[in-house]
Amino acid sequence: MFPVIRKNIKSCVLFCIATFLSISLACNENYATEKQAGVKTESGSKNIDQKGTVMPEKIIRSDEEWKRILTPEQYKITRKKGTEPPFTGKYNNYKEKGTFRCVGCGNDLFRSEAKYDSGTGWPSFWEPISEQNIKTTPDTSHGMIRTEVLCSRCDAHLGHVFNDGPPPTGLRYCINSASLDHVKKKEE
Ligand SMILES: [Zn+2]
Repeated sequence: MFPVIRKNIKSCVLFCIATFLSISLACNENYATEKQAGVKTESGSKNIDQKGTVMPEKIIRSDEEWKRILTPEQYKITRKKGTEPPFTGKYNNYKEKGTFRCVGCGNDLFRSEAKYDSGTGWPSFWEPISEQNIKTTPDTSHGMIRTEVLCSRCDAHLGHVFNDGPPPTGLRYCINSASLDHVKKKEE
């Protein structure tokens, strides 16, 4: 009898230790996950661009507000993902030096130094001012597979980006004039 009871006590003790260990391990795992999530949120909430400049907050407006602020053409293109006919936009052949901003929110998008004549009929750029001022998303509309380019601040549709651009990026940001506003460079 006695050895059997001892064996039972031994296994009971072992079981208790195992349970305690697994509970404490699980707690540690939870703690680690929470800690990671906390770090993620902190870094995500800081809105800083590549050059360390704090970016303006995101702009969210109702459809009615956009209709009031924008011209019918600007509204159709930026809020309804329209495309202006080629060779008709005011910035297609535009050569002035300066910055092209988002027509909806004033976010800096492209520098005139990155503009080139692609011959397509739309203003074309080989790079944006900052990857953080724009965002891209797959677009499968009109039976084509394209990459849509949007303003990261107000989600305005700007145009599309293609892989047939000039060096150094090899990219062609094909942008509607109606999505842009040009600010001339000040004379030095
Ligand atoms: Zn914008």
